[in-house]
Amino acid sequence: MIAIGTKNQAYASSQQQIRDENIMLLFNQIRKAPVSRAALAEIASLSPTTVSTLVEDLIRGGWVVETGTDVTFVRGRRPVILTVNASRGYVATVELLSRGYICTLYDICLNKITGTRIHNTEYDGASVSATIHELLKSKRIPKNQLLGTHTIFPGMIDSASNTLRFSAVIPHESMPEPTFLQTLNKSFGSSHNVLSNNGSIIAYTEFISEKRQSSLPLLSINIDEGIIGGVVMSDDQSGVRMCFPVEIGHIIVDHNGPQCKCGNAGCLEALCSTPSLFRMMNERAGMSLTYMDTFGADCNVTAMEEVAARLRAYDSAAMTVLADYVHILCSGLVSVVNLLNIQSIRIGGDIALLNDALLNAIRSTLRDRFRPLNNTCEVEVELFTSDYEDIRRAAAIQCMDELFHR
Ligand SMILES: [Zn+2]
Repeated sequence: MIAIGTKNQAYASSQQQIRDENIMLLFNQIRKAPVSRAALAEIASLSPTTVSTLVEDLIRGGWVVETGTDVTFVRGRRPVILTVNASRGYVATVELLSRGYICTLYDICLNKITGTRIHNTEYDGASVSATIHELLKSKRIPKNQLLGTHTIFPGMIDSASNTLRFSAVIPHESMPEPTFLQTLNKSFGSSHNVLSNNGSIIAYTEFISEKRQSSLPLLSINIDEGIIGGVVMSDDQSGVRMCFPVEIGHIIVDHNGPQCKCGNAGCLEALCSTPSLFRMMNERAGMSLTYMDTFGADCNVTAMEEVAARLRAYDSAAMTVLADYVHILCSGLVSVVNLLNIQSIRIGGDIALLNDALLNAIRSTLRDRFRPLNNTCEVEVELFTSDYEDIRRAAAIQCMDELFHR
């Protein structure tokens, strides 16, 4: 049996601990790709007998199944291939939104099983738990097969108490209770329930993206009506990856700057949110963009497309505004780069619609007008477009990686 959830418990003996670590090592290898017992023994540097015994335990526990033989094997008896039993367990992701939430259910092979979006001005941990129960019921999945849940919150989390603190996206009157996670823990006591800030999940999504490799530490920043960020780092000695939110939007870049929603003045968000760029374009580049300061306003996407068209046409007034905007943005970026020795920056959100005009301006501004202190080479900067499916999947992966102690 896989010792899911025994991470913090005292082990019966050191022998048991070694056995549990080995079984997890084998299971994680099988999670990566279907594999034979012989190949597992080689990868894990374990004896074939040990591997056979541990694999038998995995099969008995329902975690692994035998699926045919390796047809690429040419000489002798073809080895049996082992794969993860997808229906052995499930993970639910929950995205807390303004006036509603989305619940999605994945099996342990990351196949999306089902999902639903609830539109409701008021919701809390109990209503979200009820939705997860309904999803499980609709697929005839027993509650004890829900191995974990991962809730994504667009706002600040008190990390000491794991409670929700503040969100600029969810209006105050429709915020769920601060002890949201504790409510989920009551409903799903045997599951591993995790709560994350959306900025850190977006950073993790970009890090595991198969499109490109990112050097760590990685800073990801989303620029829309607000600015959120996250960092992925790795501990050189243990190889453990850490993923955490950074309040880059509230770095003060101009102490004489405009008032920010957080109560301070001159924050990066107050100067570089997408509505701030639209205002600059209207005032200084003769544009007449229609925009709103509310999250997810459709007119803001249209406004950004109009700005992109101006920049593609090399409109000189718009190019000057962009250069000034990028200079302020880079002040914030360089602060985080110097603080955490960032090696790669990924920029997403509506701002990424500006494409090469933005990317080239950021790269040249960082190179010509700033001096990152710790880096021996240039920080890599790329734009990304985050797909909500990818973000949900990354949340499910992160929850499973914690479950299986990776
Ligand atoms: Zn602020």
